[in-house]
Amino acid sequence: MNTAGKYGKWSGGTKVDREVFEEFQDDKERLNFVVTKIKEELQNNSPHYEDIFADFGEAEAKKIERLTKEGWTVEEIGNTEPSIQYRTIKQYDKIPTVSAIAKLRTGFKCEIIDCAYEPFIGLYNLPYIEVHHIIRLADGGEDTLKNVACLCPKHHREIHCGKNKENLKEILLRKRVAS
Ligand SMILES: [Zn+2]
Ligand SMILES: [Zn+2]
Repeated sequence: MNTAGKYGKWSGGTKVDREVFEEFQDDKERLNFVVTKIKEELQNNSPHYEDIFADFGEAEAKKIERLTKEGWTVEEIGNTEPSIQYRTIKQYDKIPTVSAIAKLRTGFKCEIIDCAYEPFIGLYNLPYIEVHHIIRLADGGEDTLKNVACLCPKHHREIHCGKNKENLKEILLRKRVAS
């Protein structure tokens, strides 16, 4: 299925992606506004996520309303044969020793105080714990023991995606300064 419109043609992604593209392509101003806003927020870490989510909520609601009106069924949404897209990604050369020592240093425990995580045994017969860079490498953080912390899978997701992420980061920063 190809999608043609005022701003050109696009034929990638799932049906829903194309629906969203169709929805926004005639409202380029709104799309640009949302994209610019998100970039700004991510760069500045400023606390306006809620406004953005409100905007997204509205867009999602409109999208679902439209799919329903057009008689789409749940089974039709998505793509049974997802196409492959190759992308170039930037990857940092991390030193395995840093994460190994970080894990040994904490005894494979999550470094968030009072975390109740009980590690399961991972593929290499060791307790499973994740290593996080407190200041992101992308933000100039170092791949050193001072800048890494062990986190359980839940806290690791939360420090990246949670509303509370800045607080968790503060906890880890304070902990490293103190040690
Ligand atoms: Zn991380
Ligand atoms: Zn944890």
